[in-house]
Amino acid sequence: MKAMVLHDREKPFRLEERPKPRPGLGEAVMRVRAAGVGLTLVNMRLGRMGGSLPRVMGHELAGEIVEIGEGVSALSEGDRCVVYFYLTCGRCRWCRGGRETLCENFAGFVGGDRDGGFAEFVCLPAENFLPVPEGLSDEAAAVAADAVNTNWHCMRERAQISPHDTVLLIGAGGGVGIHGVQVARLFGARVIAADISEQKLDLARRWGAEETINVRAVGDVAEEAKRLTGGRGVDAAVDYVGHGETFQVAIDSLATSGRAVVIGVGPGEVSFDPLRLVLTERVITGSRHSTRTELIETMEIMARGLVEPVVGMRVPFTEVETIFDGLRNETLLGRGALTYE
Ligand SMILES: [Zn+2]
Repeated sequence: MKAMVLHDREKPFRLEERPKPRPGLGEAVMRVRAAGVGLTLVNMRLGRMGGSLPRVMGHELAGEIVEIGEGVSALSEGDRCVVYFYLTCGRCRWCRGGRETLCENFAGFVGGDRDGGFAEFVCLPAENFLPVPEGLSDEAAAVAADAVNTNWHCMRERAQISPHDTVLLIGAGGGVGIHGVQVARLFGARVIAADISEQKLDLARRWGAEETINVRAVGDVAEEAKRLTGGRGVDAAVDYVGHGETFQVAIDSLATSGRAVVIGVGPGEVSFDPLRLVLTERVITGSRHSTRTELIETMEIMARGLVEPVVGMRVPFTEVETIFDGLRNETLLGRGALTYE
């Protein structure tokens, strides 16, 4: 099979011919039909999320099961599936308690710690394949599996959005953020989108943001968020960038009882006054990806057309480097997507 292989974190992927994987005990092989590409992959490629080389990357994947290993009963050849990209144990208290992204025996990520889907086929544990509902395209299912389900978990469980809320999304024009605009709207919130270019803010407006803040044009983003809420502050602020600087804005923008949630993974530190947390019951927290159940729910709401995949660039998987360029120079609007023959 054809595969794009990373041998050196500083160098381009190499197109190689590799043997088609055979499923071991409890595994299955999927023919990849679509993949999503976003910032998570930039971090993975740089080694910020662990992993080893050489590696076939690619974690937002959908396709068709073509071979089943011994001991697999939940899948059949021909099943349309999406990949859940966390390698979890299924036995610890977090896995059993429905919070598997916190797994105590976490074995890493598909595309980082074992080969992913920048290849014609991917072989994974059977429990990493989940069925795609009828009416949802392969590409939409692939994008669901990181860019959308991350928001579903964040808005419902961590930011706890309700129709009464005003929500500030920092990095709203990025691949995850643009789906966050839609999910926050789905929960009925009024969305304020913050990002660094008018192009990204236009996109956020197109998908439902009512107000926008150009971070490069406005001196103090937290003050601007307060101005847009009549001085009150926002009920929730979600930071898709995850730098100390951006998460500080999220914290400083909060109203009484507001929730600041970080999703992005950048460097830096924040400061806050503990007394202020006591007096106002503000919450400062993080949101980690999504559970399998939440991914299934995400695909179901997408199949109903309630959230749409926003794909800004689409190329054959052998040209994936083009999308990485778009991510690096910030010209990619929405998610990148890969096609397979
Ligand atoms: Zn576990």
